[in-house]
Amino acid sequence: MTLLIRNGEIVTVGSRARGDIFVENEAITRIGRNLEAPAGTEVIDATGKLVFPGFIDPHVHIYLPFMATFAKDTHETASIAALIGGTTTYIEMCCPNRNDDALAGYQLWKAKAEGYSACDYAFHMAVTKFGDETEAQLRQIVADGTASFKIFLAYKNFFGVDDGEMYQTLELAKRLGVIVTAHCEDAELVARLQQKLLAEGKTGPEWHEPSRPESVEAEGTGRFATFLENTGAAGYVVHLSCEKALQAALAAKSRGVRIHVESVLPHFLLDKTFAERPGVDGMKHVMSPPLRAKQNQAVLWNGVATGAIDTVGTDHCPFDTAQKLLGKDSFVNIPNGIPGIEDRVNLLYTFGVKRGRLDLDRFVDAASTRAAKLFGLFPRKGTIAVGSDADLVVYDPEYRGVISAKSQHVNNDYNAFEGLQIEGRPSVVTVRGKVQVRDGKFIGERGRGRFLKREPSHF
Ligand SMILES: [Zn+2]
Repeated sequence: MTLLIRNGEIVTVGSRARGDIFVENEAITRIGRNLEAPAGTEVIDATGKLVFPGFIDPHVHIYLPFMATFAKDTHETASIAALIGGTTTYIEMCCPNRNDDALAGYQLWKAKAEGYSACDYAFHMAVTKFGDETEAQLRQIVADGTASFKIFLAYKNFFGVDDGEMYQTLELAKRLGVIVTAHCEDAELVARLQQKLLAEGKTGPEWHEPSRPESVEAEGTGRFATFLENTGAAGYVVHLSCEKALQAALAAKSRGVRIHVESVLPHFLLDKTFAERPGVDGMKHVMSPPLRAKQNQAVLWNGVATGAIDTVGTDHCPFDTAQKLLGKDSFVNIPNGIPGIEDRVNLLYTFGVKRGRLDLDRFVDAASTRAAKLFGLFPRKGTIAVGSDADLVVYDPEYRGVISAKSQHVNNDYNAFEGLQIEGRPSVVTVRGKVQVRDGKFIGERGRGRFLKREPSHF
């Protein structure tokens, strides 16, 4: 099977040039001008289009038992939605809770993806307790190709680890060369503030943000950084939402701490007033860390533009209207999550690149290349180079459309970005050389996605 993408503007980090890309056996084998193709080659004319490396979402939830229910997507629905939006690889959080066996959980999460995902995928392995068997199990999981961990400072007694367990996880990660991603909100403060607000009769979704204020996230970020500093491990703050937390991370970075930062799509475009809307509308905008005061958005955009924020993911985690209503009597029972896997690339392009907040270089880096480098996928993923997997996005910057739940492929009955206009979308998306999407339609092979084995790289 051969494929030629002709005459597109090929954009990678540090380079932008018109040319052709030739693909054989799932990989890019030639890049140049006026390439000849053998008979039978599928040819895509990319004149007037941008050609990007397949985008990588470093933070998604697909299979997830959480808050008395399950997230709505399967790997079939999530991967098709991802591909339509230009994301060709995602890294799912594998999240067995404290009472589950970690290794059995890992096998379960893998089984949910294998043969179902239409795009390639990997996992961050959540460490939700640290017992006698944990080190041996984690060594086995790393040997299987899952070379990144996840810890939660929040969600006490469910996903959360205490400081002792955080230390043990980081110390092991340092020895194994594994990067540790972390949800940085102090569990104790969140629990106390939730109790206090509920006792005052404050039960609506507008109280979710005040129960986990910016200072609580900044404290968690700073504490995670201090633990990294004292173990020498490499870390990655997931879904950083506000200026205070960014300052904590950057203060650590300036001391030489190996800390990286991800922010996620909702925090760039939505603010806490969305969760203050009455009734279920407010509940649809509950995630953690919460949507913040609007002035944080400029800080986040600027953080991505300068590279202070390494990556932009989604924290994709769909719960439908009925599930959100589980929290109608108390905000602490609203399933946390705002989906975005399908819309991330188009919204970042529209509100970042088109609005002059991001240059194309940082856009590609933050949405693809940097995640590939941090998580052991580069240069197989995250760039357009000879030898790389032919995950390619032929992007139409002239497309105009409107985001709507009616036309989305994510398995959910609302879209938090409803009504936003997009200025660009993928016209062709390939996974290892196979055309999976054309002009907003999935036309490819279901179950084509492969588990990506990764080597530890953070010694
Ligand atoms: Zn998450």
